[in-house]
Amino acid sequence: MWVAGGSFKWKLMEFKRDLWSGMSFLAIQIRLSELFLTLCVHLVAISSISQSFSNTHKRNFIFFKTHKFSFKKLNLYCKMVVKKPRIVIIGAGMAGLTAANKLYKSVAVKERFEVCVIEGGNRIGGRINTSEFGGDRVELGATWIHGIGNSPVYKIAQETNSMDSNKPWECMDGFLDDPITIDENGYVLDPCLVNPVSVLFKELMDFAQGKRKSVGNGNENGNGNGNGNESVGSFLRKGLEDYWEMVSRKEVNGNGKMLEEAIFAMQENTQRTYTSANDLYNLDYNAESEYVMCPGEEVTIAKGYSRIIESLASILPSGVIQLGKKVCEIEWHPESEVGMIKNGHDDARPVKLHFLDGTSLSADHVIVTVSLGVLKAGIHDSDDLGMLKFNPPLPDYKNEAISRLGYGVVNKLFMQISPDFSDFDQFPFLQLVFHRSDSEAKNPKIPWWIRRTASVSPIYRKSRVLLSWFAGDEALKLETLSDEVILDEVSTTLSAFLSNPSDSHEQSNGNVIKNSSKLNLVKVLKTKWASDPLFLGSYSYIAVGSSGCDMDTLAEPLTKSGSHPLQILFAGEATHRTHYSTTHGAYFSGIREANRLLEHYECMN
Ligand SMILES: Cc1cc2nc3c(=O)[nH]c(=O)nc-3n(C[C@H](O)[C@H](O)[C@H](O)COP(=O)(O)OP(=O)(O)OC[C@H]3O[C@@H](n4cnc5c(N)ncnc54)[C@H](O)[C@@H]3O)c2cc1C
Repeated sequence: MWVAGGSFKWKLMEFKRDLWSGMSFLAIQIRLSELFLTLCVHLVAISSISQSFSNTHKRNFIFFKTHKFSFKKLNLYCKMVVKKPRIVIIGAGMAGLTAANKLYKSVAVKERFEVCVIEGGNRIGGRINTSEFGGDRVELGATWIHGIGNSPVYKIAQETNSMDSNKPWECMDGFLDDPITIDENGYVLDPCLVNPVSVLFKELMDFAQGKRKSVGNGNENGNGNGNGNESVGSFLRKGLEDYWEMVSRKEVNGNGKMLEEAIFAMQENTQRTYTSANDLYNLDYNAESEYVMCPGEEVTIAKGYSRIIESLASILPSGVIQLGKKVCEIEWHPESEVGMIKNGHDDARPVKLHFLDGTSLSADHVIVTVSLGVLKAGIHDSDDLGMLKFNPPLPDYKNEAISRLGYGVVNKLFMQISPDFSDFDQFPFLQLVFHRSDSEAKNPKIPWWIRRTASVSPIYRKSRVLLSWFAGDEALKLETLSDEVILDEVSTTLSAFLSNPSDSHEQSNGNVIKNSSKLNLVKVLKTKWASDPLFLGSYSYIAVGSSGCDMDTLAEPLTKSGSHPLQILFAGEATHRTHYSTTHGAYFSGIREANRLLEHYECMN
């Protein structure tokens, strides 16, 4: 019996010998065709080596060593050599499109791989979504480039000339540094009262993030020592208590303390929107100092964040991105099962994706970029058919990391002021101070879901579109309310804030809000990131009980070795240990996983 592993020369000699020893015509024909096919196999294998497909070739060599020759197997072998590895990227957000862009830029993909991006929604961009409201360009998701220094997002924005626009956009220009702070009964708070608490809060956060070594007057052992703190919330509150202890000798009385606490709570609420944690008591203290900010200014993108996405997608040939294809199951083969690729798998590709519309697609490698919320739901909501499932389920260590990590909800609410309302020249940046629930100063007209909103401000100087951010339970509640209820309750709240018991609110920059009539809002636009099944929330954080290691664990590919390695790779903001929750974190993760595959096939530039 001939085995396909032998050399062509050796087989030719053997054939000659058999011929002289006498063979039937049919046997000669069979031998000739086998010889021809063996030649083909060797030629294809040589070309495969020359294309640096060392891993694919290794796999094929093993195949030949371990399988006795037959025409059927030879046919299959030829197919395997010729078939290009298929890489499927799930999700056309920042991570997915960056990975696809990197693959296309790095190699002549057409010759070496089949790449496609599968997107469950009907648009690209994921949690980046530029839209329009009240005639202005607004961002429903990612808004800021968090630090322009070394930011790949900023680099693309510059290259695509996206930082300037003639059309008004959500630029939050300048006046953010000049806020007016009002309590829920309309009293403008003196900056002498507000600033020390705001400075304390900033110093505490800087300390927690490892940006400064002490808080206050350089006293490392006093307030600001983070030792023993489990959560950012407990650390902050301890810092406030220490501050009171220090200043109590001088001045603060009971009412002053209540007001300071309310100002401190306002800063905590801003922090909740930065981190997406519903409660800062659930935000891990130790992980806070691991988080890395890009240096430099934080800016918004004049032509819209979606320009970055469009730029990444622009080099992909048409048809590479498939919209409206929601993956509901990823069938894969753990290392223990490799070699048992099930019937029905196309060309022995180890992964099979099942879509909600009943179709399927096989792949050699899948880069999963769906949000941490979608991964969590796949583990926990086992009966929901629309949820993304792994079959077999992901290993326990992976599921445990997914469960432990934090993933919260942040929503934006845009509000348009009536064109008839002319009682102000420019709406100021209002910082909203709400009193504690047990305080007599609490205004009963204001609903609970607005009580942890830190600010309301126009989206640019003189804009009639106002913006507030909501986090956690309040953000969830916002999603359930009708526009009418929101309009009514926000108008009531803002009127309370603007009902200055004295005549007018004078801002330090000279802008004045007159108090003559109720603020008239005509239209609202709210985001609904938690109820959208493709996101189920906004961004990730390190919850108490988890750590940055969990993000590393989430980023680990499956499987690492065996004859079908790297079946499932993981990208997305929640897989980046130091830049999670951001667009640049998602970008870096896409590059990381594209590089992993390119290295695997040894075709890095
Ligand atoms: C309100 C808000 C404000 C933000 N502000 C900022 C900011 O100012 N600056 C900043 O840097 N970042 C910000 N972010 C975070 C930033 O938007 C994200 O970190 C980043 O966009 C995530 O990109 P990603 O590719 O990891 O995930 P995603 O953008 O979520 O992409 C994943 C894609 O997978 C798709 N998908 C999900 N499930 C399936 C499925 N089963 N089948 C097929 N496709 C599926 C989704 O539709 C989505 O398109 C904000 C986010 C929100 C929500």
